[in-house]
Amino acid sequence: MSHTIILGAGLIGAALAYRLTQTGERVTVIEAGLPAGAASGRSFGWINASFSLNEAHFALRVAGMAAHRRLAADLPGLHHETGCLWWEELGPAFHATADRLQAAGYPLQRLTRAGALAAEPALARPPDEALLFPTEAWVDPAALTHALLAASGALVLTGLAARPDAGDGGICGVETPLGPVAADRVVLATGTATPGLLEPLGLSLPMLHRPGLMLRTRPVGLRLRRILAAPEQEVRQDETGRLYAPAAAYHQSDTGQNLADPVGQARETLARIAGLLGLPGLVAEVVTHAERPVPGDGLPVVGPVEAVPGLWLAVLHSGVTLAAIVAEALAAEITGQGEEPLLAPLRPARLVG
Ligand SMILES: Cc1cc2nc3c(=O)[nH]c(=O)nc-3n(C[C@H](O)[C@H](O)[C@H](O)COP(=O)(O)OP(=O)(O)OC[C@H]3O[C@@H](n4cnc5c(N)ncnc54)[C@H](O)[C@@H]3O)c2cc1C
Repeated sequence: MSHTIILGAGLIGAALAYRLTQTGERVTVIEAGLPAGAASGRSFGWINASFSLNEAHFALRVAGMAAHRRLAADLPGLHHETGCLWWEELGPAFHATADRLQAAGYPLQRLTRAGALAAEPALARPPDEALLFPTEAWVDPAALTHALLAASGALVLTGLAARPDAGDGGICGVETPLGPVAADRVVLATGTATPGLLEPLGLSLPMLHRPGLMLRTRPVGLRLRRILAAPEQEVRQDETGRLYAPAAAYHQSDTGQNLADPVGQARETLARIAGLLGLPGLVAEVVTHAERPVPGDGLPVVGPVEAVPGLWLAVLHSGVTLAAIVAEALAAEITGQGEEPLLAPLRPARLVG
């Protein structure tokens, strides 16, 4: 049995630890802070393929949705397949998206205003037309991270920053402030910290600066049936009645880099939710800030680093949608069960130099 160290206990590291230990591999997860303490604990948690960057990315996201259902069979109660009511784009763009997704076989229903209101009675101002994506879902990424780590057979070390240790033959383990830990391979599931861990190895990984704010309200009496993706605001609700909303509309393709005045942004986000749902008196409970781990071309970076045998990367945005499929595929590849064609366009070699 070989020994794999996963650096990073966000959702990606936790999902990989879960799938990898199922193969019989010995796994140690080393986390600098607390599990889900970075992007994973501050995410909207929407699992979808209605947003994608290209056809291969769409196929990966569809596979990601199916992989989440397999995970949900193992860990029930965490995957909420509520569907999403979507009218984020309007006019010709709305119809282009509907036609593209329908042609690709993505489950959707085209709804009139009455249909939209029936799908989501909580809407104060239903749109004239909307799409219902019935298979889209949400998870609480922090809860899922903790559940995956607990269900995995991995040893989890927290509060310990580590870095990969490589000699002439490749990876020999990691260096920690407590000394070295030997391993046959190291997977960096370290999100935005990854470039800094590659640098001492003489490698670089360009990443985009994509900060995000997530707002959570105090519980409200109203019950949302769906994830809502309106032009002005995305919002979902958890089982406690709290509403979650990114401060940027259409946050998945958000390229904004300026989060100045987070208090003002929170106030404006609350006002947009209040208008969407006709809910006066909404109160923000917490606003979180996180950097999205977005590689330079926007697509995931997943797989072995050719220049350093034994070093693997799993660095990605839309990591909630993709965690389950990336974990399945990487676990299979690491244990020699063959390459996953879906990962072919995502290899580190295209960006790591
Ligand atoms: C505002 C916002 C909204 C989002 N919404 C969605 C969404 O709706 N759907 C979706 O699919 N995705 C969404 N995402 C993206 C998604 O949250 C991320 O892609 C995903 O959480 C990345 O998980 P990760 O485990 O790779 O990274 P992280 O959760 O950032 O975890 C990396 C971990 O590595 C640890 N680490 C770093 N350096 C070291 C070291 N040297 N040693 C040990 N540990 C180390 C860190 O402490 C951290 O815990 C959103 C992100 C943000 C910020």
